[in-house]
Amino acid sequence: SAHRADLDDGGNISVSFEFFPPKSEKMEASLWAAIERLQGLNPSFVSVTYGAGGSTRERTHRTVARLLEETDLAPAAHLTCVGASKDEVDDIVRDYREMGVRHIVALRGDPLEGLGAVYRPRADGYAYAADLVAGIRRVADFEVSVSAYPERHPESATWQAEIDNLKRKVDAGATRAITQYFFDNDVFEAFLERVRAAGIDIPVVPGILPITNFEQTMVFSAKCGTSIPHWLARRFAGLEQDAETRKLIACAVAGEQVLDLVDRGVTDFHFYTMNRAELTFAICHMLGVRPAAAEKQAA
Ligand code: FAD
Repeated sequence: SAHRADLDDGGNISVSFEFFPPKSEKMEASLWAAIERLQGLNPSFVSVTYGAGGSTRERTHRTVARLLEETDLAPAAHLTCVGASKDEVDDIVRDYREMGVRHIVALRGDPLEGLGAVYRPRADGYAYAADLVAGIRRVADFEVSVSAYPERHPESATWQAEIDNLKRKVDAGATRAITQYFFDNDVFEAFLERVRAAGIDIPVVPGILPITNFEQTMVFSAKCGTSIPHWLARRFAGLEQDAETRKLIACAVAGEQVLDLVDRGVTDFHFYTMNRAELTFAICHMLGVRPAAAEKQAA
């Protein structure tokens, strides 16, 4: 039967896309092919991640600069606390402001030793995302997005700690939260209720991960605290040697997820694109989010 998104023209839905900075010329070419395909969907912004420990500082900057020069898209630069002093981070923020960037995704980041190691703030750095948000706001009046965790950040011992932390980030000036990816929409809805009950009223945008690699998704999810429901594992079971069917399943899974979220009242979606257009483009199509030319043809 029809979902709410099937009855609308996508006009009330807004989408944003996340990319990571490419490591090689080949990856750069495939990223830009993806950007070209996705830019016609008129995303409200596109974000560029910051490698673990600030390892992609230059590459993130270059990718954001190219987006500003060659597209009409509004880039959001991710920035983390780890691996740099407050002064260094403030310089990066000033640089972005001068380039014309108006949106930062402010994160703590993971320890340099990797996910799972104990986090220790640098004495001269921003300690947590909330401190970074305040620092960014001191430099410029940026739009600031922050993370949120429908299944709790692995280091938050209680829900109280999790929600208090989000509240601190909002009080410091965050204007939007983007969630870690999740596969169970009930979990997202329950989280949103906790957030609203705490008086947090900024948009909380679900992060959607179209699964391009199920094995990697399993490994990463275990580290970042996203649960893989039994039904999801079953859908991919037995397809280890069949990439084409895996892709079709991935599209069905994410398509089903976003259509159900629209039925629950969600209007904004952030896609973890993994620098590929195909799945995200198809899922946006299901949401009614289409290039202007295609819409005209359909009318
Ligand atoms: P915070 O919001 O600072 O919270 C981290 C933990 O610390 C929480 O458990 C919180 O409860 C706890 N905490 C907060 N303040 C205190 C305090 N004062 N004392 C004790 N505990 C405290 N990582 C990257 O490296 N680069 C990226 O580009 C990137 N992009 C991301 C985008 C999104 C949308 C998301 C959801 C995550 C992203 N990450 C990225 C991963 C992120 O860096 C990790 O999840 C990291 O472990 C936490 O960062 P945070 O900003 O959520 O931290």
